[in-house]
Amino acid sequence: RPTLAFDNVVFGYEPDRTILKGLSFEVPAGSQVAIVGPSGAGKSTIARLVFRFYDPWSGRILIDGQDIREVTQVSLRSAIGIVPQDSVLFNDTIGYNIAYGRDGAGLAEVEQAARDAALMGLIERLPQGFDTEVGERGLKLSGGEKQRVAIARTLVKNPPILLLDEATSALDTRTEQEILATLHRVSSGRTSLSIAHRLSTIADADTIFVLNEGALAESGTHAELLRRDGL
Ligand code: ADP
Ligand code: ADP
Repeated sequence: RPTLAFDNVVFGYEPDRTILKGLSFEVPAGSQVAIVGPSGAGKSTIARLVFRFYDPWSGRILIDGQDIREVTQVSLRSAIGIVPQDSVLFNDTIGYNIAYGRDGAGLAEVEQAARDAALMGLIERLPQGFDTEVGERGLKLSGGEKQRVAIARTLVKNPPILLLDEATSALDTRTEQEILATLHRVSSGRTSLSIAHRLSTIADADTIFVLNEGALAESGTHAELLRRDGL
């Protein structure tokens, strides 16, 4: 259970426009931290930097004190699992979608991940179960089921760090509540960073940071932030 930290990170996509203006925060090992902010604040940029789609202009991103620039792509990707807002599924079996890119994930691992993602309700529609090769291809799934497949796909690699990037914002309210409960359960025991634009979706976080125009404006628990400024 590693610690994830941003240390004075400065970054922009264009030379004359700084998006993250010296961002520092820590996700202590095993804790659930969330970053909330309006659209355009730089939230997804944080996720892109963690995955090294880009590197900071200055400052460092650290996993257990080590700069992620010194870590191989393979170990970075096994350390961090992302649940994005919209996951694209292949027109293939559910098992294949869960195991995709996870070399060596067998049926037992896929089933465990499906169970952890509360996907077992699908089983009556899957005569071949979660077999990766045999069975129903391109099964029509609801938005919530798709998101559960994405969660299972992330869990099958058993990442010690979870990054939730607006993981429920494409869902209707009721489905969102169900998926939030699942995410809360699978985050426990991991180091998790959740990025959101609504405070109501990160009520369970140990600490919430408010991001505004690329800088942290304030932090606290959900109750503290509500009390302070009625967000
Ligand atoms: P959020 O996730 O908080 O909505 P983003 O991190 O996606 O915000 O974007 C922050 C800012 O960076 C926005 O002003 C956005 O227009 C800009 N931006 C995002 N991606 C790019 C890009 N590839 N090139 C240039 N500007 C970008
Ligand atoms: P892998 O272990 O195969 O890299 P992951 O489940 O960690 O797969 O990530 C799935 C894919 O999503 C990867 O290709 C990763 O690069 C990509 N990804 C990373 N960050 C984001 C993001 N912020 N939004 C959407 N997709 C992302």
